Amino acid sequence: MSRQQIVAGNWKLNGSKALINAFNEHFTHTDIPNVSIMLFVPALYAEAVDKSAFCVGVQNISEHSSGAHTGELSVAMLNDLGIKYTLVGHSERRQMYGDSNAVVAKKVSVALDADITPILCVGESLETRDAGQVNEFIQAQLDSVIELVGIAGLSRCVVAYEPIWAIGTGHTATPEQAQAVHAFIRQYIASKDAMSAQQISILYGGSVNAQTASDLFAQPDIDGGLVGGASLQQADFLTICQAANQRG
Ligand code: PEP
Repeated sequence: MSRQQIVAGNWKLNGSKALINAFNEHFTHTDIPNVSIMLFVPALYAEAVDKSAFCVGVQNISEHSSGAHTGELSVAMLNDLGIKYTLVGHSERRQMYGDSNAVVAKKVSVALDADITPILCVGESLETRDAGQVNEFIQAQLDSVIELVGIAGLSRCVVAYEPIWAIGTGHTATPEQAQAVHAFIRQYIASKDAMSAQQISILYGGSVNAQTASDLFAQPDIDGGLVGGASLQQADFLTICQAANQRG
């Protein structure tokens, strides 16, 4: 994927068929030409999302291709259903389900091998920020992926910077805080390959809402957002998409 404005909604363990129908109706006739709007709904609902209005993705994949892994989803199944996007390494998966840097890297690798675009989530805790170690922490998360798939592989991902202290807390990072980390991520990628740094989309996530989106998306290295809570409200999500559209 080349660099572009993206707004991705992460519904987590929320939503219903009725809500998806409402989103389908609400977004089908909107004019947001400059933004790829992605919806990461619970996998059961992926088929119900209107693909003319949204790029549909899942919130997690297995690093395994098949076999005795109860409850998991494989990339082959995604391809079977025409689903081309997956989140990888969301902090909730890292913290609650044991997705270590090594597992995250493996998931990125199997997704890329299957031509599925991973939205690779990275981001630090408040302790790490307070200790002044943000860049080192993010760099280690990126390095584990680069070690497995190379910079060429990373450049086929979308990166989402999501500080853990901002996710679901209502404490959005300031545009300046977010821009500083986005600039670091782009510079770090540039230190490996300048073209990859120009081409990759880097999204901000963490309590983005209808009020904060415009100022965040106006930052030079922020290419849109990964949105949790506000992506469950049609009107708010539309306002966020329109904010990205103005940038695009
Ligand atoms: C997320 O889950 O990726 C997220 C950013 O959530 P929220 O927008 O609710 O903070």
